[in-house]
Amino acid sequence: MITLALSKGRIFDETLPLLDAAGIRVDPSVAQSRKLILPTGDPGLRLVIVRATDVPTYVEYGGADLGVAGRDVLLEHGGEGLYQPVDLGIARCRMCVAAPEGFDYVSAVRRGARLRIATKYVQVAREHFAAKGVHVDLIKLYGSMELAPLVGMADAIVDLVSTGGTLRANHLAEVEEIMPISSRLIVNQAALKTKAAQLEPLLAAIERAVGAGR
Ligand code: ATP
Ligand code: MG
Repeated sequence: MITLALSKGRIFDETLPLLDAAGIRVDPSVAQSRKLILPTGDPGLRLVIVRATDVPTYVEYGGADLGVAGRDVLLEHGGEGLYQPVDLGIARCRMCVAAPEGFDYVSAVRRGARLRIATKYVQVAREHFAAKGVHVDLIKLYGSMELAPLVGMADAIVDLVSTGGTLRANHLAEVEEIMPISSRLIVNQAALKTKAAQLEPLLAAIERAVGAGR
């Protein structure tokens, strides 16, 4: 049995059409249920539903043989013990610095100001500002980063943006793009050897489905 870890929401919704194109059906009624283990049309493949940030952990420790995780999540996790064969090109967005509409980020950086940055992505943020030579105090949050500048807790945030609607609704603006983000297939390295006979055709079918969608 092969186990594929997915998170609910964007990643689940955008992975199902890829699986479908790879010949693996997931019954839509099963997909709506609260079950954490879901069968697929392939008796040798099941899905497990976990938090997005837990997907690399499940795959690293063999709770799942493979999974789908955002580049953001993989960078924070570190990607230890994970084989990352293919960028699926789904759940696309970008990691960026955003600040209140009135805040002159460029001149604050230019005059060497020390910035307070709220973010869920402390690793990426630390590396980004270190590379620019900007001194920052990082405040770790787990969600609703947009609020931090509004209540005076931070000068700016590092967050994922796709349309920018959430930023605009909170009078924030994107001031710097850090990197583009999409989701990747990740595979447990031991399973790659012990379950090669089942995994290799599945990986090939998913890679073909990704290629066909490009
Ligand atoms: P939760 O919302 O349950 O706290 P989460 O924010 O980690 O968890 P999602 O919002 O489903 O979970 O995001 C999962 C992945 O989708 C992220 O890791 C990222 O790669 C991608 N993603 C997040 N936000 C966006 C966005 N605005 N546009 C496109 N993709 C996004
Ligand atoms: Mg979210």
